[in-house]
Amino acid sequence: MILRRHTLIPPAPGTNREILSLHYGPVDAGRKAMIQASLHADEVPGLLVAHHLRRRLAELEARGALLGEIVLVPFANPIGLAQRVLQSVEGRFDLTSGENFNRRYADLVPRACDLLMPQLGGGVQPTVPMVRAALLQACAELPAATELESLRRTLLSLAVDADVVLDLHCDNEAVLHLYTTPELWPDVEPLARLMSARAVLVADGSGDEPFDEACSLVWPRIAAELTRRLGRSVTLPPACAAVTVELRGEADVRHELADADAECIIRYLACRGLVLDAPAELPGLLCEPTPLAGSIPLDAPHGGVLVWLAEPGALMRRGEPLVEVVDPFSGDATLLASPADGVFYARESRRFVFAGTRICKVAGREAVRNGRLLSD
Ligand SMILES: [Zn+2]
Repeated sequence: MILRRHTLIPPAPGTNREILSLHYGPVDAGRKAMIQASLHADEVPGLLVAHHLRRRLAELEARGALLGEIVLVPFANPIGLAQRVLQSVEGRFDLTSGENFNRRYADLVPRACDLLMPQLGGGVQPTVPMVRAALLQACAELPAATELESLRRTLLSLAVDADVVLDLHCDNEAVLHLYTTPELWPDVEPLARLMSARAVLVADGSGDEPFDEACSLVWPRIAAELTRRLGRSVTLPPACAAVTVELRGEADVRHELADADAECIIRYLACRGLVLDAPAELPGLLCEPTPLAGSIPLDAPHGGVLVWLAEPGALMRRGEPLVEVVDPFSGDATLLASPADGVFYARESRRFVFAGTRICKVAGREAVRNGRLLSD
Protein backbone atom coordinates (compact mmCIF):
# COMPACT_ATOMS: atom_id res chain seq x y z
CA MET A 1 0.00 0.00 0.00
CA ILE A 2 1.20 3.46 -0.82
CA LEU A 3 -0.01 6.34 1.33
CA ARG A 4 -0.32 9.67 -0.46
CA ARG A 5 -0.89 12.99 1.26
CA HIS A 6 -2.62 15.80 -0.62
CA THR A 7 -2.22 19.17 1.04
CA LEU A 8 -5.14 21.54 0.49
CA ILE A 9 -4.72 25.25 -0.03
CA PRO A 10 -4.56 26.66 3.51
CA PRO A 11 -7.19 29.35 4.08
CA ALA A 12 -4.82 31.11 6.48
CA PRO A 13 -1.14 30.65 7.28
CA GLY A 14 -0.53 27.70 9.54
CA THR A 15 -3.88 25.99 8.91
CA ASN A 16 -2.88 23.30 6.40
CA ARG A 17 -5.17 20.33 6.04
CA GLU A 18 -4.59 17.22 3.99
CA ILE A 19 -6.47 14.38 2.37
CA LEU A 20 -4.97 10.92 2.70
CA SER A 21 -5.35 8.38 -0.08
CA LEU A 22 -4.35 4.73 0.29
CA HIS A 23 -3.32 3.01 -2.94
CA TYR A 24 -3.49 -0.78 -3.10
CA GLY A 25 -2.60 -3.11 -5.96
CA PRO A 26 -0.75 -2.57 -9.24
CA VAL A 27 -0.94 0.96 -10.64
CA ASP A 28 -0.10 -0.03 -14.21
CA ALA A 29 -2.72 -2.73 -14.82
CA GLY A 30 -5.08 -0.35 -16.63
CA ARG A 31 -7.86 -0.91 -14.10
CA LYS A 32 -8.72 1.31 -11.21
CA ALA A 33 -11.37 1.80 -8.55
CA MET A 34 -11.73 4.75 -6.21
CA ILE A 35 -13.72 4.54 -2.97
CA GLN A 36 -14.20 7.50 -0.68
CA ALA A 37 -16.02 7.92 2.61
CA SER A 38 -17.72 10.81 4.33
CA LEU A 39 -17.53 13.58 1.75
CA HIS A 40 -20.37 14.82 3.94
CA ALA A 41 -18.15 14.86 6.97
CA ASP A 42 -20.87 14.11 9.53
CA GLU A 43 -21.94 10.87 7.80
CA VAL A 44 -20.16 8.20 9.80
CA PRO A 45 -21.18 4.76 8.37
CA GLY A 46 -18.74 5.07 5.44
CA LEU A 47 -15.85 5.69 7.83
CA LEU A 48 -16.39 2.32 9.47
CA VAL A 49 -16.78 0.61 6.09
CA ALA A 50 -13.44 2.20 5.07
CA HIS A 51 -11.90 0.82 8.27
CA HIS A 52 -12.99 -2.70 7.28
CA LEU A 53 -11.96 -2.16 3.66
CA ARG A 54 -8.42 -1.30 4.74
CA ARG A 55 -8.02 -4.69 6.36
CA ARG A 56 -9.58 -6.59 3.43
CA LEU A 57 -7.57 -4.71 0.81
CA ALA A 58 -4.31 -5.27 2.72
CA GLU A 59 -5.05 -9.02 2.86
CA LEU A 60 -5.88 -9.16 -0.85
CA GLU A 61 -2.78 -7.18 -1.75
CA ALA A 62 -0.59 -9.44 0.39
CA ARG A 63 -1.73 -12.51 -1.53
CA GLY A 64 -1.46 -10.84 -4.91
CA ALA A 65 -5.20 -10.89 -5.52
CA LEU A 66 -5.61 -7.29 -6.65
CA LEU A 67 -5.81 -6.99 -10.45
CA GLY A 68 -5.87 -3.21 -10.54
CA GLU A 69 -5.32 -0.17 -8.41
CA ILE A 70 -7.80 0.39 -5.59
CA VAL A 71 -7.67 3.89 -4.16
CA LEU A 72 -9.31 4.27 -0.76
CA VAL A 73 -9.88 7.72 0.69
CA PRO A 74 -11.01 6.80 4.20
CA PHE A 75 -11.91 10.35 5.09
CA ALA A 76 -12.67 12.61 2.14
CA ASN A 77 -13.44 15.87 3.88
CA PRO A 78 -11.07 17.29 6.50
CA ILE A 79 -12.63 20.74 6.04
CA GLY A 80 -16.05 19.52 7.15
CA LEU A 81 -14.67 17.46 10.01
CA ALA A 82 -13.15 20.58 11.54
CA GLN A 83 -16.39 22.59 11.38
CA ARG A 84 -17.55 22.29 14.94
CA VAL A 85 -20.49 24.55 15.70
CA LEU A 86 -21.35 24.65 19.37
CA GLN A 87 -21.35 20.93 20.13
CA SER A 88 -22.06 19.38 16.74
CA VAL A 89 -20.25 18.93 13.43
CA GLU A 90 -21.53 20.79 10.38
CA GLY A 91 -20.24 18.40 7.75
CA ARG A 92 -22.67 18.86 4.85
CA PHE A 93 -22.15 22.53 3.99
CA ASP A 94 -18.95 24.54 3.83
CA LEU A 95 -19.42 27.23 6.47
CA THR A 96 -17.42 29.78 4.48
CA SER A 97 -19.38 29.61 1.22
CA GLY A 98 -22.58 27.84 2.26
CA GLU A 99 -21.97 25.29 -0.51
CA ASN A 100 -22.80 21.61 -0.18
CA PHE A 101 -19.58 19.58 -0.24
CA ASN A 102 -21.12 17.14 -2.74
CA ARG A 103 -22.16 19.66 -5.37
CA ARG A 104 -20.52 21.81 -8.05
CA TYR A 105 -17.81 19.42 -9.25
CA ALA A 106 -16.10 20.85 -12.30
CA ASP A 107 -17.22 20.22 -15.86
CA LEU A 108 -14.08 18.79 -17.48
CA VAL A 109 -15.72 18.25 -20.87
CA PRO A 110 -14.72 21.45 -22.75
CA ARG A 111 -11.05 21.29 -21.76
CA ALA A 112 -10.80 17.52 -22.27
CA CYS A 113 -12.25 17.95 -25.78
CA ASP A 114 -9.72 20.73 -26.51
CA LEU A 115 -6.97 18.30 -25.59
CA LEU A 116 -8.45 15.44 -27.61
CA MET A 117 -9.28 17.29 -30.82
CA PRO A 118 -5.71 17.44 -32.25
CA GLN A 119 -5.48 13.64 -31.88
CA LEU A 120 -8.66 12.89 -33.83
CA GLY A 121 -7.78 13.79 -37.40
CA GLY A 122 -8.41 11.42 -40.30
CA GLY A 123 -11.38 9.66 -38.76
CA VAL A 124 -9.50 8.49 -35.64
CA GLN A 125 -11.86 7.46 -32.84
CA PRO A 126 -10.93 8.40 -29.26
CA THR A 127 -9.97 5.50 -27.00
CA VAL A 128 -10.68 5.16 -23.30
CA PRO A 129 -6.99 5.68 -22.32
CA MET A 130 -6.82 8.79 -24.53
CA VAL A 131 -9.89 10.25 -22.85
CA ARG A 132 -8.62 9.40 -19.37
CA ALA A 133 -5.32 11.15 -20.05
CA ALA A 134 -7.22 14.23 -21.24
CA LEU A 135 -9.49 14.14 -18.18
CA LEU A 136 -6.52 13.93 -15.81
CA GLN A 137 -4.83 16.85 -17.50
CA ALA A 138 -8.02 18.92 -17.53
CA CYS A 139 -8.45 18.18 -13.83
CA ALA A 140 -4.85 19.11 -13.03
CA GLU A 141 -5.37 22.44 -14.79
CA LEU A 142 -8.50 23.35 -12.81
CA PRO A 143 -8.09 26.61 -10.97
CA ALA A 144 -8.35 26.29 -7.21
CA ALA A 145 -8.33 29.54 -5.32
CA THR A 146 -9.88 28.28 -2.09
CA GLU A 147 -9.47 25.35 0.24
CA LEU A 148 -12.87 23.99 -0.87
CA GLU A 149 -11.93 24.19 -4.55
CA SER A 150 -8.67 22.39 -3.87
CA LEU A 151 -10.58 19.66 -2.00
CA ARG A 152 -12.90 19.15 -4.97
CA ARG A 153 -9.99 19.13 -7.44
CA THR A 154 -8.02 16.65 -5.33
CA LEU A 155 -10.91 14.18 -5.01
CA LEU A 156 -11.82 14.46 -8.69
CA SER A 157 -8.20 13.90 -9.74
CA LEU A 158 -8.15 10.66 -7.73
CA ALA A 159 -11.36 9.38 -9.35
CA VAL A 160 -11.84 10.68 -12.86
CA ASP A 161 -9.68 8.01 -14.55
CA ALA A 162 -11.21 5.11 -12.60
CA ASP A 163 -13.42 2.28 -13.89
CA VAL A 164 -15.39 2.21 -10.64
CA VAL A 165 -16.10 5.09 -8.23
CA LEU A 166 -18.01 4.48 -5.00
CA ASP A 167 -18.88 7.55 -2.96
CA LEU A 168 -20.04 6.37 0.47
CA HIS A 169 -22.74 8.47 2.13
CA CYS A 170 -25.76 7.95 4.40
CA ASP A 171 -29.16 9.53 4.89
CA ASN A 172 -30.82 10.52 8.19
CA GLU A 173 -32.81 7.32 8.74
CA ALA A 174 -32.97 5.10 5.68
CA VAL A 175 -32.66 1.77 3.97
CA LEU A 176 -29.63 1.23 1.76
CA HIS A 177 -30.06 2.99 -1.58
CA LEU A 178 -27.96 3.99 -4.58
CA TYR A 179 -27.76 6.92 -7.00
CA THR A 180 -26.36 6.48 -10.49
CA THR A 181 -27.21 7.09 -14.16
CA PRO A 182 -29.66 5.02 -16.25
CA GLU A 183 -26.93 4.11 -18.73
CA LEU A 184 -24.80 2.59 -15.95
CA TRP A 185 -27.52 0.36 -14.54
CA PRO A 186 -26.21 -2.87 -16.16
CA ASP A 187 -22.80 -2.19 -14.57
CA VAL A 188 -24.25 -1.21 -11.20
CA GLU A 189 -26.86 -3.96 -10.91
CA PRO A 190 -24.40 -6.46 -9.32
CA LEU A 191 -23.66 -3.89 -6.60
CA ALA A 192 -27.37 -3.36 -5.99
CA ARG A 193 -27.83 -7.12 -5.64
CA LEU A 194 -24.79 -7.63 -3.39
CA MET A 195 -25.67 -4.75 -1.07
CA SER A 196 -29.39 -5.60 -1.01
CA ALA A 197 -30.26 -2.07 -2.14
CA ARG A 198 -33.89 -1.19 -1.49
CA ALA A 199 -33.98 1.71 -3.94
CA VAL A 200 -31.86 2.72 -6.94
CA LEU A 201 -32.44 6.29 -8.12
CA VAL A 202 -31.25 7.11 -11.62
CA ALA A 203 -30.87 10.41 -13.45
CA ASP A 204 -29.03 11.70 -16.50
CA GLY A 205 -27.83 14.64 -14.47
CA SER A 206 -29.48 15.74 -11.25
CA GLY A 207 -28.68 19.40 -11.91
CA ASP A 208 -26.15 20.06 -9.16
CA GLU A 209 -23.01 18.23 -10.36
CA PRO A 210 -22.48 15.82 -7.46
CA PHE A 211 -19.22 13.88 -7.31
CA ASP A 212 -20.47 10.63 -8.89
CA GLU A 213 -21.97 12.40 -11.90
CA ALA A 214 -18.78 14.43 -12.44
CA CYS A 215 -17.01 11.08 -12.89
CA SER A 216 -19.65 9.20 -14.91
CA LEU A 217 -21.40 11.74 -17.12
CA VAL A 218 -18.18 13.05 -18.66
CA TRP A 219 -18.17 9.99 -20.94
CA PRO A 220 -21.46 10.53 -22.82
CA ARG A 221 -20.92 14.29 -22.69
CA ILE A 222 -17.44 14.09 -24.25
CA ALA A 223 -18.81 11.80 -26.97
CA ALA A 224 -21.59 14.30 -27.69
CA GLU A 225 -19.24 17.29 -27.70
CA LEU A 226 -16.68 15.60 -29.96
CA THR A 227 -19.49 14.57 -32.32
CA ARG A 228 -20.56 18.20 -32.48
CA ARG A 229 -17.06 19.57 -32.99
CA LEU A 230 -15.95 16.97 -35.54
CA GLY A 231 -19.23 16.76 -37.41
CA ARG A 232 -19.06 12.95 -37.34
CA SER A 233 -20.28 10.32 -34.95
CA VAL A 234 -18.02 9.70 -31.95
CA THR A 235 -18.90 6.92 -29.56
CA LEU A 236 -17.44 6.14 -26.15
CA PRO A 237 -18.40 3.47 -23.61
CA PRO A 238 -19.73 4.52 -20.20
CA ALA A 239 -16.24 3.83 -18.86
CA CYS A 240 -16.73 4.94 -15.25
CA ALA A 241 -19.32 3.17 -13.11
CA ALA A 242 -19.76 5.88 -10.49
CA VAL A 243 -22.29 5.38 -7.72
CA THR A 244 -23.34 7.26 -4.62
CA VAL A 245 -23.95 4.57 -2.01
CA GLU A 246 -26.26 5.63 0.82
CA LEU A 247 -25.32 3.33 3.69
CA ARG A 248 -28.68 3.47 5.47
CA GLY A 249 -29.12 6.01 8.30
CA GLU A 250 -26.57 8.10 10.14
CA ALA A 251 -26.82 6.01 13.30
CA ASP A 252 -26.47 2.66 11.48
CA VAL A 253 -22.85 2.28 12.54
CA ARG A 254 -22.13 -1.28 13.61
CA HIS A 255 -19.24 -3.63 12.91
CA GLU A 256 -21.47 -6.36 11.51
CA LEU A 257 -23.05 -3.97 8.99
CA ALA A 258 -19.77 -2.31 8.00
CA ASP A 259 -17.90 -5.59 7.72
CA ALA A 260 -20.64 -7.01 5.46
CA ASP A 261 -20.74 -3.83 3.37
CA ALA A 262 -16.96 -3.96 2.90
CA GLU A 263 -17.24 -7.59 1.83
CA CYS A 264 -19.97 -6.70 -0.69
CA ILE A 265 -17.76 -3.97 -2.13
CA ILE A 266 -14.86 -6.42 -2.51
CA ARG A 267 -17.17 -8.88 -4.28
CA TYR A 268 -18.37 -6.12 -6.58
CA LEU A 269 -14.75 -5.26 -7.39
CA ALA A 270 -14.28 -8.94 -8.22
CA CYS A 271 -17.30 -8.75 -10.57
CA ARG A 272 -15.61 -5.77 -12.25
CA GLY A 273 -12.31 -7.61 -12.73
CA LEU A 274 -10.37 -5.72 -10.07
CA VAL A 275 -10.07 -8.54 -7.56
CA LEU A 276 -9.04 -12.12 -8.29
CA ASP A 277 -11.83 -14.11 -6.75
CA ALA A 278 -14.30 -16.80 -7.63
CA PRO A 279 -17.31 -15.16 -9.25
CA ALA A 280 -19.79 -14.46 -6.51
CA GLU A 281 -23.27 -15.88 -6.80
CA LEU A 282 -25.34 -12.74 -6.91
CA PRO A 283 -28.29 -12.50 -4.55
CA GLY A 284 -31.71 -11.53 -5.86
CA LEU A 285 -32.54 -7.99 -6.84
CA LEU A 286 -34.75 -6.27 -4.25
CA CYS A 287 -35.77 -3.33 -6.41
CA GLU A 288 -35.76 -2.07 -9.96
CA PRO A 289 -34.18 1.31 -10.67
CA THR A 290 -36.62 4.20 -10.55
CA PRO A 291 -36.16 7.75 -11.85
CA LEU A 292 -34.71 10.26 -9.40
CA ALA A 293 -37.37 12.56 -10.85
CA GLY A 294 -39.92 10.12 -9.40
CA SER A 295 -38.55 10.34 -5.87
CA ILE A 296 -41.09 12.54 -4.17
CA PRO A 297 -40.19 14.47 -1.03
CA LEU A 298 -42.71 15.45 1.62
CA ASP A 299 -42.27 18.77 3.42
CA ALA A 300 -43.70 19.62 6.84
CA PRO A 301 -46.76 21.84 6.34
CA HIS A 302 -46.15 23.45 9.73
CA GLY A 303 -43.83 23.03 12.66
CA GLY A 304 -44.50 20.23 15.08
CA VAL A 305 -43.71 16.80 16.41
CA LEU A 306 -43.21 14.01 13.87
CA VAL A 307 -44.97 10.75 14.66
CA TRP A 308 -44.10 8.12 12.08
CA LEU A 309 -46.72 5.61 10.99
CA ALA A 310 -44.41 3.58 8.73
CA GLU A 311 -40.80 2.44 8.84
CA PRO A 312 -38.11 3.04 6.18
CA GLY A 313 -38.23 0.29 3.58
CA ALA A 314 -42.03 0.04 3.63
CA LEU A 315 -43.71 -0.40 0.26
CA MET A 316 -46.34 2.33 0.27
CA ARG A 317 -49.50 2.85 -1.71
CA ARG A 318 -50.36 6.36 -2.75
CA GLY A 319 -52.62 7.88 -0.07
CA GLU A 320 -51.56 5.49 2.65
CA PRO A 321 -50.86 7.28 5.99
CA LEU A 322 -47.15 7.92 6.48
CA VAL A 323 -46.61 10.47 9.24
CA GLU A 324 -48.43 12.83 11.57
CA VAL A 325 -47.19 16.34 12.32
CA VAL A 326 -48.55 17.25 15.74
CA ASP A 327 -48.91 20.89 16.80
CA PRO A 328 -49.10 20.85 20.60
CA PHE A 329 -49.87 24.59 20.65
CA SER A 330 -53.19 24.30 18.80
CA GLY A 331 -53.85 20.64 19.50
CA ASP A 332 -54.11 19.96 15.75
CA ALA A 333 -52.41 17.11 13.96
CA THR A 334 -51.86 16.93 10.21
CA LEU A 335 -51.80 13.49 8.66
CA LEU A 336 -49.53 13.21 5.63
CA ALA A 337 -50.01 10.35 3.19
CA SER A 338 -47.60 8.70 0.80
CA PRO A 339 -47.43 10.83 -2.36
CA ALA A 340 -46.89 7.81 -4.62
CA ASP A 341 -46.82 4.06 -4.89
CA GLY A 342 -43.24 3.16 -4.04
CA VAL A 343 -40.56 2.53 -1.45
CA PHE A 344 -40.46 4.83 1.57
CA TYR A 345 -36.67 4.88 1.64
CA ALA A 346 -35.51 7.80 3.80
CA ARG A 347 -36.80 10.05 6.55
CA GLU A 348 -35.78 12.84 8.88
CA SER A 349 -34.06 11.72 12.08
CA ARG A 350 -35.20 14.60 14.27
CA ARG A 351 -38.61 14.31 15.84
CA PHE A 352 -39.43 18.00 15.99
CA VAL A 353 -39.36 19.92 12.70
CA PHE A 354 -40.02 23.42 11.48
CA ALA A 355 -42.46 24.45 8.76
CA GLY A 356 -41.10 23.52 5.33
CA THR A 357 -38.58 20.94 6.55
CA ARG A 358 -38.13 18.05 4.13
CA ILE A 359 -39.15 15.07 6.21
CA CYS A 360 -39.08 12.02 3.95
CA LYS A 361 -38.81 10.62 0.43
CA VAL A 362 -40.78 7.96 -1.44
CA ALA A 363 -39.33 6.43 -4.62
CA GLY A 364 -42.18 6.47 -7.12
CA ARG A 365 -41.91 4.91 -10.57
CA GLU A 366 -43.12 7.87 -12.63
CA ALA A 367 -40.85 10.83 -13.32
CA VAL A 368 -42.85 13.81 -12.08
CA ARG A 369 -40.23 16.39 -11.13
CA ASN A 370 -38.03 18.72 -13.21
CA GLY A 371 -35.01 20.89 -12.59
CA ARG A 372 -32.76 20.33 -9.60
CA LEU A 373 -33.50 16.84 -8.37
CA LEU A 374 -31.28 16.52 -5.27
CA SER A 375 -32.11 18.01 -1.91
CA ASP A 376 -29.86 20.82 -0.62
ZN1 LIG B 1 -24.16 12.59 2.05
